[in-house]
Amino acid sequence: MLWRIVSKALPTCSRLVKRGMNIDPYCPRCHKEEESICHVLFKCPYANINWRLSNTRVLTSRQFTDDIEENISLIVDSYHNSNLTEQQKLDPFWLLWRIWKERNNLVFNKFRESPSRVVIQVQAKVKDWINNVANWRINIPKPSHTTSATSTWTTPPFSFVKCNFDAGFDVRTFQGTGGWIIRDHYGRAKACGSSILPHVSTPLEAETKALLVAIQQTWIRGYRNIIFEGDCELLIKALNGLSQHHELFNPLHDIDFWTSKFSTVNFTFVGRQCITAAHFLASYGCNNDVFYSSSNNQPLGLQKLLCKDLNT
Ligand SMILES: [Zn+2]
Repeated sequence: MLWRIVSKALPTCSRLVKRGMNIDPYCPRCHKEEESICHVLFKCPYANINWRLSNTRVLTSRQFTDDIEENISLIVDSYHNSNLTEQQKLDPFWLLWRIWKERNNLVFNKFRESPSRVVIQVQAKVKDWINNVANWRINIPKPSHTTSATSTWTTPPFSFVKCNFDAGFDVRTFQGTGGWIIRDHYGRAKACGSSILPHVSTPLEAETKALLVAIQQTWIRGYRNIIFEGDCELLIKALNGLSQHHELFNPLHDIDFWTSKFSTVNFTFVGRQCITAAHFLASYGCNNDVFYSSSNNQPLGLQKLLCKDLNT
């Protein structure tokens, strides 16, 4: 299965030549062999160093062969190996994707990333992913100080759209992720997305930056009457002038600037159960630097949450 996905997705030089393109079929990095999928991901000396540095269990038992299907099944088998940690199981999948990304970085940006940096970043991403998924499963309720917040997602009035936003924050890496979703008065998702929020120092700052992204994305898409709903009470109070936070001075200033462009903007505090879709997207965000989606191309699992919102 994975092999089929990989084989369809990767336009290597040798594949493009077979499809009739007039380009050099050789590996743009080592120039020693034709650039097949197996070569880029496993056999190229660059890929090889990455695999060795990553110290995955896949490589301790045997070396990769020239048969890509065999190599992929090696990785898939290791995923089902109960002696490995979650990190050891997942690292190879991320590394595959990252080696390909670095190949494109070389071809299109003429940039050569060092394997040691690649491997460190891959391991950090996987760690992040594991933690985010764990948080998502535990679903820690945030303390709520008011009882006025609604307990289920509600549709916005006609001529308005609603944008739910949420953020995740990793205390060890000081990296946040933001998720947002725009829905109309039928509850239909018009657009959604997530992004990594670098250099944030507190969960509150992550929430604020996630909102800023949500506001910009809503504006870009032409919506002018909008309700922003989040589950961070401190932030919503600050936005409505009910409290002050010096640490938020700059992001709030940016938010002021952007909201002045809309016709009607409302910031509402709601319970976490009202923003499960945005929360899902914020967790999903740790996968990608930036990700957007239209209404008909949503990440797996989101549709279920949207239906649940409308049926409760
Ligand atoms: Zn090569």
